[in-house]
Amino acid sequence: MNVPDALRAICTTGEGHCWYCDEQLPNAEVAIRTGWDVKRLEGERVASIILICPTCDREKQEMGEEEFLRNFSQRALNTAEHW
Ligand SMILES: [Zn+2]
Repeated sequence: MNVPDALRAICTTGEGHCWYCDEQLPNAEVAIRTGWDVKRLEGERVASIILICPTCDREKQEMGEEEFLRNFSQRALNTAEHW
């Protein structure tokens, strides 16, 4: 996936939030410059596109994905209810 293109597309919807901490996606050029990431998340029936802000991306790398996800599991559950 082309991350800058995906960020631009998501920005036009005005619905972009970090999947983990709910931080709002800034405008596309800022997001690209500051290192927002876009990932495909395979769900049971459909794949979702998720956004990761630079803060969470850094924490995820420092903690390791497993520990990071444990920290955010409650947040993720809350977020999932809105999808
Ligand atoms: Zn975040």
